[in-house]
Amino acid sequence: MSENWKRCTKAVHGGTRRSQYGELSEAIFLTQGFDYPNAEAAEARFEQAGPDEFIYARYGNPTVAMFEDRIAGLEGMEAAFATASGMAAVNGALTALVAAGDHVVAARALFGSCLYILEEILPRFGVEVTFVDGTDLDQWRAAIRLGTRLVVFEAVSNPTLEVIDTRAVADIAHAAGALVVVDNVFTTPVFSRAVEMGADLVVYSATKHIDGQGRCLGGVILGPRDIVRGPVETYMKHTGGAISPFNAWIMLKGLETLDLRVRAQTRGARILAQALEGRAGLARVLYPGLTSHPQHALFPQGGTVFSIDVAGGQAAAFRFLNALKIWKISNNLGDAKSIITHPATTTHQRLPEAAKTHLGITPGLLRLSVGLEDPQDLLDDLERALQRV
Ligand SMILES: *Cc1c(COP(=O)(O)O)cnc(C)c1O
Repeated sequence: MSENWKRCTKAVHGGTRRSQYGELSEAIFLTQGFDYPNAEAAEARFEQAGPDEFIYARYGNPTVAMFEDRIAGLEGMEAAFATASGMAAVNGALTALVAAGDHVVAARALFGSCLYILEEILPRFGVEVTFVDGTDLDQWRAAIRLGTRLVVFEAVSNPTLEVIDTRAVADIAHAAGALVVVDNVFTTPVFSRAVEMGADLVVYSATKHIDGQGRCLGGVILGPRDIVRGPVETYMKHTGGAISPFNAWIMLKGLETLDLRVRAQTRGARILAQALEGRAGLARVLYPGLTSHPQHALFPQGGTVFSIDVAGGQAAAFRFLNALKIWKISNNLGDAKSIITHPATTTHQRLPEAAKTHLGITPGLLRLSVGLEDPQDLLDDLERALQRV
């Protein structure tokens, strides 16, 4: 029945498991273990646990299972494994599926820790990784070869907000027999059409929009049952990247309001990006929701994040940051509070200068994650700060 529900109904009711008390709000099962009725039941459960049978919280827990089933339903994927953080999800999805001698192709514009896994960790274990410019399909065609195991990219890149054509890349990957792994943080489950576009696995940092109030870390790996309940689950349950039941509960409740929040934040981002485009003092405004964006057609909704390039480089960008009153200088995104980040000196500080230049991370670039404040207040704050520059 729940498969036919529309997204907002699934977000509120999907995956619910009730205890004998019939609690309306989902319970937090803050337990690492489970009491078996007898020795035979324990043996049977270790042999093959049913969907509502649990063994140990590193493997699964009722609250965690509610979050997994709810987000799998929203994303239109068969199965999900929830993880301690977004990075545990990225690491699990990649490491569970490769072995020495395998070949992986990845887009170069990646979240720093994702880049570390692909550039430093996997090659140490004999996995060959080729990097490409994600928006250039010819580079994908040249790099993906028969026997390539995984193709990995962020659907929308951070912080320059380039949008990758998931369907086109997936077609190239599938022709070579590769699996497509998409990090979908910027698209969010609200706007994601990753399954329709041919993604095999989707990973989210739930820390971002799914919590949406900056409280805790979490992540999730979504995909076909035979992969998620097969190699991914086996890898995750033995390596310890499980999410805490409490954090899973925060994420589960976050899903109930995700659609409302993300649409309101996206509306704010659109208002601000449109108001700032072409403004004196700004060299660029990057937002997929603007018709001027080169990949506007691939993500017309635009999402909750945009970037600006302050003319005058780092000194001007710092003056701008330090003049803001409502916007918080921090590095999370998708939060109810609007957050502004200077990637060149924080999240991307360690990248060599040449790599920053190549990725468009200029000294004046600022990434803005729009929260739930009134867009007019946010715009007034930005305009006041621009005058200080
Ligand atoms: C934040 C983020 C991650 C990592 O998530 P954590 O929850 O911080 O571990 C991975 N990929 C992208 C695109 C992100 O924005």
